[in-house]
Amino acid sequence: MSTQDRSEKDITLINQVPPENRLIEPLPEEKALAMFRQSQALLEGHFRLTSGRHSNQYMQCAQVLQYPAYASRLGQELARRFQKEDVQVVIGPAMGGVVLAQEVARALGGSVRSLFAERENGRMALRRGFWLQPGEKVLIVEDVITTGGSVQEVLELVGQLGGKPVGVGVLVDRSGGKVQFPVRKEAVLTLDIIAYTEETCPYCAQGLPIVKPGSRPV
Ligand SMILES: [Zn+2]
Repeated sequence: MSTQDRSEKDITLINQVPPENRLIEPLPEEKALAMFRQSQALLEGHFRLTSGRHSNQYMQCAQVLQYPAYASRLGQELARRFQKEDVQVVIGPAMGGVVLAQEVARALGGSVRSLFAERENGRMALRRGFWLQPGEKVLIVEDVITTGGSVQEVLELVGQLGGKPVGVGVLVDRSGGKVQFPVRKEAVLTLDIIAYTEETCPYCAQGLPIVKPGSRPV
């Protein structure tokens, strides 16, 4: 057997390892939380949210996903939780789910594909030639959910295209766990970010200065 033949055989053998037998270490919640804090994806203080309400926490997942090492580790954790589902395709809604879908699919390994859905005339669609085969097992991922609206739309899209949704994996469930889907939902972090009106804000009452996240001094 030539060297080339052997290397091709090795690759075939690697691809035949069932993805569910790959060992992925669980990621403890406090370690995930530390990644969000260290990257400033999770800020704690006194904030004016986009809604105008006040809160003592502010979440911006893009901040943690800008570090591929963190994105990779968080993607592995979601992959681990769906390892037994025989996932064939991972789909995230653009923009929040794009990077995450890539990392989760990579961690699941084998021939798992990574796609993203995006809006076309206001409706979620698969564009760019992306496709689903009838019956393909699909995992939907998203960085953060508040009402779960985008994820619900992607779930419906997958159904319309003949795919079989097997789960929803999110990095942060901001609903405190209240949002549910017709399939199993897994969240790396579950937060209940409480937003107050200015009149009822306890941090205003304490006289703490307020910050508008993302704003830069001019
Ligand atoms: Zn306040």
